[in-house]
Amino acid sequence: MGEPYWIGVDLGGTNIKAGLLDGDARVLTSFSVPAGIEKGRDHVVAQIALAAERAITEAKVSRRAVLGIGIGSPGPMSHRQGLVINPGNLSCMKNTPLRDIIVERTGIRTTLENDANAAAWGEFWAGAGKDVRDMVMFTLGTGVGGGIIVAGNLLRGHFENGAELGHMIVQPGGRRCSCGQHGCVEAYASAGNVAARAAELIREGEASSLKARLDAGEAVRCEHVEAAAKAGDALAGRVWDDACRYLALACITMQHATNPERIVLAGGMINAGDFLLKPLREYVRSLTWTLLDDAPEVMFATLGDDAGFIGAAGCACHAHETGDW
Ligand SMILES: [Zn+2]
Repeated sequence: MGEPYWIGVDLGGTNIKAGLLDGDARVLTSFSVPAGIEKGRDHVVAQIALAAERAITEAKVSRRAVLGIGIGSPGPMSHRQGLVINPGNLSCMKNTPLRDIIVERTGIRTTLENDANAAAWGEFWAGAGKDVRDMVMFTLGTGVGGGIIVAGNLLRGHFENGAELGHMIVQPGGRRCSCGQHGCVEAYASAGNVAARAAELIREGEASSLKARLDAGEAVRCEHVEAAAKAGDALAGRVWDDACRYLALACITMQHATNPERIVLAGGMINAGDFLLKPLREYVRSLTWTLLDDAPEVMFATLGDDAGFIGAAGCACHAHETGDW
């Protein structure tokens, strides 16, 4: 294992996941601790600082060889200012200058990154994108998150809200999104919205095997829609197919916007495997332009839930290389 070392922290609404990695992105130690948001900001900040100390102790490395801490935080946040601004599920952390506080507590240089960007950086540094320079990631969870890497650098944008890929409009005038727009890719292709849309159409009177769940007062989740679609349910099949097609349109838009070599898909929905990947790839192939063949390769992420803290450590490594803390 090679010096120097990097600490990665993935700050979530429930847990803080942390680990220590070497320069080759090998995880020497990792663990998860409760964030304890009900105890307030000072507690959460102390948990982060403690996690960094614990990572050093557990990995049994020299403190001097740890050259950086990366923290992935829910947005909105500012990398430039090192500031957590107003994260919905971590409201106690509102307006916290987290980067500088952690530097003060630990004496180790620290960088703060948007959690979706950090996860994309994790896949780029150590996962499905580690052999490419230009990569886009879509995370298909409750919503659709994103990350864009161009020529080996994260794209943040002037207002630091870049890579909000879930809110690319793929259906003008379409389904309303939680963001206030209509027809966002998130409104069709996130796990949460695949489930919500199926339930919506059934309530509007469409026939489906999933109706029994709703009638029994049970929730329809994305995996239920997937299973029903596989079993030949027409409504579920249409909702699933739309998710794949709209996601393909978003991939094609990214193909033309940043021309990535690879598009990586992450999040719970990729558990669907080929049932998601095959139609998605086919739609990308059949709907993209014909001027030349520069369609990106679409692949699944490989790091799972670890992408966040691994990527945060990678962000520290990259900040060290570029001087952009
Ligand atoms: Zn939206």
